[in-house]
Amino acid sequence: MNGLFEPTRAAGLARLHAFVPHAGRAYAEGRNSDLGPDRPSAVSRLSPWLRYRLLNEQEVCAAVLEQHSLAAAEKYVQEVLWRTYWKGWLEMRPGIWTRFVEERDVQRERLRNVRALEQAEEGRTGIEGFDDWARELVETGYLHNHARMWFASIWIFTLRLPWTLGADFFLRHLIDADAASNTLSWRWVAGLQTAGKTYLATADNIARHTGGRFAPKGLARTAEPLTESPVPAASPLPQAGSAQGAPALLLVTSEDMAPDAALWRGADIRGICIAADPALLWGDRARGFVAEAARDMAALLGEMSAGPVKQVDGLDAGAVAQAARAAGVSRVITPYAPVGPVAARLADIARALQGEGIELVQVRRDWDETFWPHARKGFFPFKQHMGRLLEDMGLTRI
Ligand SMILES: Cc1cc2nc3c(=O)[nH]c(=O)nc-3n(C[C@H](O)[C@H](O)[C@H](O)COP(=O)(O)OP(=O)(O)OC[C@H]3O[C@@H](n4cnc5c(N)ncnc54)[C@H](O)[C@@H]3O)c2cc1C
Repeated sequence: MNGLFEPTRAAGLARLHAFVPHAGRAYAEGRNSDLGPDRPSAVSRLSPWLRYRLLNEQEVCAAVLEQHSLAAAEKYVQEVLWRTYWKGWLEMRPGIWTRFVEERDVQRERLRNVRALEQAEEGRTGIEGFDDWARELVETGYLHNHARMWFASIWIFTLRLPWTLGADFFLRHLIDADAASNTLSWRWVAGLQTAGKTYLATADNIARHTGGRFAPKGLARTAEPLTESPVPAASPLPQAGSAQGAPALLLVTSEDMAPDAALWRGADIRGICIAADPALLWGDRARGFVAEAARDMAALLGEMSAGPVKQVDGLDAGAVAQAARAAGVSRVITPYAPVGPVAARLADIARALQGEGIELVQVRRDWDETFWPHARKGFFPFKQHMGRLLEDMGLTRI
């Protein structure tokens, strides 16, 4: 499985183009099967590129909808939109991310050196499948969606370990580790996200969808939803800025590594600074992927920009101010960073730069601007807008 996720935009595009012919019926019928890491799969395995936006959701859906009708590729487009939905939902409830981080830290302390936790992370529980997925995750940085669901369910309901530590284990090992998709999917399995609805992994379902590789014994037979204090109502989406205006430095972070012409439409870019800070990622596999992707993007963006392209290790106010001065500008534009460590760091940097007379503007992609406002409630009301919004964006006819 090594080398499966080559951290370049070209490799992501090649994977996308190879997958597109299979994005219709083959995906819809085969997407739930996980026959093993070394076996062909009906899923696209594009998540590392999508996570850091080396490929973006719009271009992936556009490529799929160029070859398939929406009816034929509905399942695939819908899965990509789960990512968009989780992002929009968390953007309007940032306190749920903070709540996760705080509870994780409390549980970490509480379960320090507890054997059951170590056994679960090391794949030594004796539960067939679960142990294999724990090792697969650590060895490859990836798990099939169904394996993620089974794993999370067994962690919470059979092993009775805190869900926040399971989510943390995923964050530390997945290449595609993502604040919204990971936290909210774990919450969904636990019954916190959709009130009263949990996901129970069963031996039959696992055996059926793993081609009989695993049929674990002793799994929990019921899954009582976990409880928590009420989820706050959705707050308005934070304002984003415009790329147009005075000459600017383009700041590229790990949240959106291939900002294309559509994003900086109308901007006068005088220089580019790529700051993919490893301290803002959770695990070494993600750090390795992003570090190489940053080198790749430095070369690609260099071809697109007349101004200097600078790559720095840390995302901090000093480095950004220096790059802005070198480009002769007092305005910095950057792709909007959704809830998570990069967004928190950008908020600090914006305050620090203000003191130096430099403005930091976050610019949101049309895709997010179009879909996020509909993520106030559940996925099903969100999905009802899918066809119309894709049509409005010129991606499909309904
Ligand atoms: C407990 C749990 C934790 C998860 N943690 C993450 C995470 O940290 N990062 C992450 O990107 N995804 C996460 N997912 C969602 C999903 O499992 C992965 O996105 C998917 O398995 C990636 O494989 P793929 O690219 O082959 O997906 P495909 O099936 O080919 O789907 C295409 C793309 O759609 C998106 N997508 C597909 N399914 C989902 C989904 N259920 N939720 C959100 N987006 C989806 C992904 O960007 C994916 O690359 C998690 C799911 C669960 C159940």
